[in-house]
Amino acid sequence: MADMNLVEALPQAGCDGLAEAVIDLAAIQANVHRFQRVRPGLEVMAVVKADAFGHGMIPIARATLAAGATWLGVARAEEALQLREAGITAPVLVWLYGPDDLELLQDVDVSIANLAELEQAAAAPNVRSVHLKLDTGMHRGGSSADQWIELTRAAARFEIAGRLRVRGLWSHLSHGDEPSGEHNRSQLDIFRAGVVLARRAGLDPEYLHLTNSAGTITLDAPELNLARIGAGLFGIDETGAGLHPAMRLSASLLQVRRIRAGEGVSYGHDYVAERDTTLGLVPLGYADGIPRGVQATVLFRGVRVPIAGRIAMDQFVVDLGDLPATPGDEVVIFGNGSEGEPTAADWAGWAGTIQHEIYCGIGARVPRRYLDAAETGRISPIER
Ligand SMILES: *Cc1c(COP(=O)(O)O)cnc(C)c1O
Repeated sequence: MADMNLVEALPQAGCDGLAEAVIDLAAIQANVHRFQRVRPGLEVMAVVKADAFGHGMIPIARATLAAGATWLGVARAEEALQLREAGITAPVLVWLYGPDDLELLQDVDVSIANLAELEQAAAAPNVRSVHLKLDTGMHRGGSSADQWIELTRAAARFEIAGRLRVRGLWSHLSHGDEPSGEHNRSQLDIFRAGVVLARRAGLDPEYLHLTNSAGTITLDAPELNLARIGAGLFGIDETGAGLHPAMRLSASLLQVRRIRAGEGVSYGHDYVAERDTTLGLVPLGYADGIPRGVQATVLFRGVRVPIAGRIAMDQFVVDLGDLPATPGDEVVIFGNGSEGEPTAADWAGWAGTIQHEIYCGIGARVPRRYLDAAETGRISPIER
């Protein structure tokens, strides 16, 4: 048996105050409102998969529901279970699961791509409600067009038998962020044809959903009554929608030292000081999600300072020049861009990736701290 005292004595991750990710829940709530305003009656599914893109699944689920989101979306059954274990009762849709997962789910809606999944769902004792997914051109998941009629007919038979309810029909865009939207239009046309066929098979779904964050802004389709919003919640703004980044990652300088011109810094001495300078040690590394191979700057005393040399697993060094520096001083890795802060978008550019990957990468060792509207004094754009 586990020794409880030992377990209780384990240090809590990240309680040392060396670094933190502060998450502005009011920014996230303003982002929810931005999507609700796209169309009257449009419901928002807050996609909180992957620990809400690194922002923390449970607090983000609660904040988005409080802001008016009516659904939560997750990729994995495990994530749906965690939401339920936290006491969250809002509708949840899960789209990637294995055959054994469905047994564990209780009152969670599942996505169905084919007959095998439909039969599994019908056999699972506590799965009642499903969303049939049609592949309209993304070719990543969902029912192929030629199996759709068979799938919808089989689902209608299960409905009549009282085994399942088809609550939604859905698909996913491959080019949601393209405002010109040729692909979007074609996917919408195929989706509409799929809806007609499903109705002909006898289905009467409550929800039709096709768009992600960017697609919700770029694609105008009045019959879509649910939007699956992930990136946009966190201020990743692919379409100029006026969204607010919510995460600010900062750390305290742990050590400060002077070095002379010509001295090298960190592994391999990739960085050599051009003049006498002050170095600061930042206790974050690639294990915490700082991309290793980048030339980046961070904010110190209102000034952008470069990272000196290679980023290590747990730490990196910044070149502070002749700025006054003391252990404990704050370094901002990224924030919302105010006062010269780098942004996650800057980091994505430096690392040759997308902001999603930067946010998702911020490691479990970095504690998350949450600010609500009262603390940030933020007035949402609706009230402004
Ligand atoms: C991640 C995901 C979303 C959210 O997309 P964003 O572009 O982050 O808004 C929506 N639907 C599905 C199926 C997803 O996997």
